[in-house]
Amino acid sequence: VADAIWRQVEGRSAAFFQRVGRRPALSVVSGVDEAAAAYARQIERQFVRHGLQVVCATPAATEYLSEVSRLMSDTRIDGTLLLTPLPAEVDREQALAVLEPAKDVDGLHPTSLGRLAQRQAGFAPATAEGGLRLLEYYSVPLRGARVVVVGRGPVVGMPLALLLIDADATVTVCHSRTLDLAAVSRSADVLCVAAGRPGLIRPAHIKPGAVVVDFGTNVGSDGSLIGDVQTSEVMAIAGAITPVPGGTGPTTVAVLAEHTLRAAESAAAPND
Ligand code: NAP
Repeated sequence: VADAIWRQVEGRSAAFFQRVGRRPALSVVSGVDEAAAAYARQIERQFVRHGLQVVCATPAATEYLSEVSRLMSDTRIDGTLLLTPLPAEVDREQALAVLEPAKDVDGLHPTSLGRLAQRQAGFAPATAEGGLRLLEYYSVPLRGARVVVVGRGPVVGMPLALLLIDADATVTVCHSRTLDLAAVSRSADVLCVAAGRPGLIRPAHIKPGAVVVDFGTNVGSDGSLIGDVQTSEVMAIAGAITPVPGGTGPTTVAVLAEHTLRAAESAAAPND
């Protein structure tokens, strides 16, 4: 799925370069942990391989907001990604508020989420949109389908629920206070899990034949990535399941590139 997105992005990026004379550029503002740094390296590798550019910014905590603000007015930067966790001294709400929605390619500004909730065009968080793209790619029926999303976080669960509602699914959102999660999740034709709890979803949570999308990326004691779903056990019951690693992760980066390109194309479009 990611490859299909990348092929399209590569062609359009080359056309953008021909027309505008520079590559679509994403600025990545550094976080504070190694997982975030590894994610940034993965983004840079993939972007460069497919004809986009990444500019890394590593501001001191005291200059974080002014640096993000500067990136917003830099016409050579098309999109900005704030790596999380943010430095402890930086207020998340303040940092997101500095983003311009037109450059908010990971869809975290309140305006971006507000537009999504109102079913208006804008940038959705790349991970959530990547999940939808996986389902669409495999023609999983969504119109009228019963979909359960486990997790209501602002990066995956909540925006994914909004995207699925927009795709005409009937969506139930579960969270840590949900009573009898298994009973609710067993009603799902499509079960999307973004809880950050390794192995939370077992066979007892699955309706036979259900499609399962696992967003969980939990780091095990040996450094391996573990999903929120017990994949090998659930595979015997589910109709289809995304692997961890290699499922929602690569799709996230490809969608982020597509958003960066879209932001670049909009900024470079001639004014009417
Ligand atoms: P988050 O903001 O912390 O949200 C987690 C959600 O899961 C919360 O709504 C929480 O409920 C719910 N939850 C926690 N324990 C639960 C339980 N036992 N039963 C039901 N719901 C439970 O986390 P996030 O940022 O959305 O991330 C979720 C997972 O996705 C993590 O593993 C993260 O690493 C992964 N992720 C993957 C990608 C990717 O590219 N694939 C990108 C981003 C994140 P409450 O609201 O009640 O606390």
